[in-house]
Amino acid sequence: MNAYELIKKKRDGLKRSKKEIAVLIDGMISGNIPDYQMTAFLMAVYFNGMSVRECFDLTMAMTQSGEQVDLSVIRGFKVDKHSTGGVGDTTTLVLAPLVAASGGIVAKMTGRELGHTGGTVDKLESIPGMQVALAKDEFIDIVNTIHVSLISQTASLAPADKHLYALRNMTATVDSIPLIASSIMSKKLAAGADGIVLDVKTGQGAFMQTYEDALALAKTMVKIGEKAGRRMAALITAMQQPLGNAIGNAVEVREAIDTLGGNGPPDLVELVTELGGEMLLMSGIASTRDAAKSIIVNNLETRKGLDKLAELIAAQGGDRAVIDNPNLLPQPRMKLEIASATSGYVTAIDAFEVGLASKILGAGRTIKDGVIDHSIGIYLNKKIGDNVKTGEALAVFHSDGDIEKIDAAKAKFLRSYTIRPNSGAPPKLLHARITTAGVEEL
Ligand code: URA
Ligand code: CA
Repeated sequence: MNAYELIKKKRDGLKRSKKEIAVLIDGMISGNIPDYQMTAFLMAVYFNGMSVRECFDLTMAMTQSGEQVDLSVIRGFKVDKHSTGGVGDTTTLVLAPLVAASGGIVAKMTGRELGHTGGTVDKLESIPGMQVALAKDEFIDIVNTIHVSLISQTASLAPADKHLYALRNMTATVDSIPLIASSIMSKKLAAGADGIVLDVKTGQGAFMQTYEDALALAKTMVKIGEKAGRRMAALITAMQQPLGNAIGNAVEVREAIDTLGGNGPPDLVELVTELGGEMLLMSGIASTRDAAKSIIVNNLETRKGLDKLAELIAAQGGDRAVIDNPNLLPQPRMKLEIASATSGYVTAIDAFEVGLASKILGAGRTIKDGVIDHSIGIYLNKKIGDNVKTGEALAVFHSDGDIEKIDAAKAKFLRSYTIRPNSGAPPKLLHARITTAGVEEL
């Protein structure tokens, strides 16, 4: 059995065995199968798809390509959450401390920016002193003590995914459901949690733009996780417009502090309540979704999650004074209002374009492994449904003062807004809930 035959089999729409998939992944990692054969295989998968069984076998081969974190030394049920990627998605910064304050255990590995989306690790690093590259036993100690820790994904986690993702990025094979499902689930399984709640985004700002694709992706990932012995649930949520008001790094940390203090934007609060509810339900802390959600709502009101965030920051070497004084976070050189050229109601905000505008402004890296200016970002004053008058600010740019970047970001940003004389239907955030029991449309 050689790589040529395996590629041909996939090209002709035949299914491959677990052994054949493992041979391919092992061959890639050991360097025996060259990238040109792997990319041909990826394109064959792109066109012919994979059965759930094949996708599971691919995921397991990728999971087993590197370190598998053993969280069994942490007492209790460890719950993780993963988002398929959005713009201004401040969720993890709010959810991890909030779920821990509600009785859950969150030992989470998280990533850096990807494409037009930001990364939780970058956001955390805007907190002065905060360490995200902790040693395994330090991570485990912190979780055992305060029930939450957020660290950066190590290079040894699912190296097969790293290799495949780089090839996919160069060969137009990123947007394939089995390839995304195996990519995400290989990392989640290797990270060791007992239960995983997935936030599968749909809409312009998401990798899966249509509801049907998001649903297919969610179902595939839930099946893979269950087959691997983990408890699974997925929510399909809208990424039509950026989540909350802040997009960037320090601005999103401030938004997380506001939200945990009971003053969050309604869409972020709704999403955190739904995802947090699922995490508590899965952890056995509540027996119904409504009961689980009311624990979350209550802990937002009483600011228990904010105290937990302060503990988390202190435990990882950060300055917990940012909680009471967010001005200690990196401040931009310049704040600039972006005025509307028309009046009416905001009916759409293209999240993908806003994500790119934020990167152009300087909130992302321009070179691989480059440094980020954490102070840069965008704060939206207007969201879908809001009324706006000519000359009124749609947003505030947090900038380093570079006029070229400001002009380019501004042009893109203004194009992302649709303003009409009448307001449209209010946007719907939550679309469906997927568990092994089936699909519940919400
Ligand atoms: N996020 C991932 O980790 N992998 C993908 O393929 C897409 C989004
Ligand atoms: Ca946000």
